Amino acid sequence: MLPDEPSKATHSAADAGPLRDWLSAARDNPRAVGLFCDVDGTLAPVVPRADEARVPVEVSRLLGRLSAQLGLVACVSGRTAADAKRLVGVGGVVYAGAHGAELLNPATGEIERTPELEAWREPVQRFVNALDAAEMRRNGVRLEDKGFIQALHWRGSEEPEQAEQFVARVVEDATAQGFEIHHGRMVLEIRPPVHFNKGVAVAGLVESYAIEHAAYVGDDLTDLDAFNALRRLHDDGALTTALCIGVSSSEQPQRLVEAADVMVDGPGGVTDLLQTI
Ligand SMILES: [Mg+2]
Repeated sequence: MLPDEPSKATHSAADAGPLRDWLSAARDNPRAVGLFCDVDGTLAPVVPRADEARVPVEVSRLLGRLSAQLGLVACVSGRTAADAKRLVGVGGVVYAGAHGAELLNPATGEIERTPELEAWREPVQRFVNALDAAEMRRNGVRLEDKGFIQALHWRGSEEPEQAEQFVARVVEDATAQGFEIHHGRMVLEIRPPVHFNKGVAVAGLVESYAIEHAAYVGDDLTDLDAFNALRRLHDDGALTTALCIGVSSSEQPQRLVEAADVMVDGPGGVTDLLQTI
């Protein structure tokens, strides 16, 4: 990093206030500290196909150690909770899947789901089943079934412009039919019109685990909901420390960079950061 770059250009800026405060709390009062991590693009490097993503063994080991040490380690993912657990592979971690609509409790192994979402599972599936499968194939758009969330991916498409035009039409139809849509990096999600996001999940966990110092690490727009939730809890006095860590990438959304207290350099930078805790 150049000497006069802004301090959030890299995590080597350990002097950034919230990062310093959170690291001290992790040392001095670890049971009151929570670490929340997105999975894809944060723990697992982004790969052309979501089903080929891998979390490095070293990262899983670090999370295992931290889950024994801190009050809470949670992985908060757009994937289902079971899929996030399969990928990260650590038992003591709480998995908030489907953007917080599902919670996998490590103590019981049970998955809790927001009940009003269950009612939307079929309508969402019916909607994507009616999409033109041949056109999707032609445009390199793939469907990922996340239960009551259905995701369209076009990373790696040989026809990215056509893929985006196709997706734009899907957005129109989905909106007209009352579904919610969420955009990510080369992914569109069709969701039930029920209020849930990563921020709702994180706020719930902060409360149920009595966390006083929370850090959230994420790389994408859906992670901003979690950033906002932490800041709100901090403003309300429920959190003493709220640390928002952005993960840089070639596709990093500008809003993420603006909202983060600190940016780290890709999943490798997240690993380095985890090692300092
Ligand atoms: Mg991500």
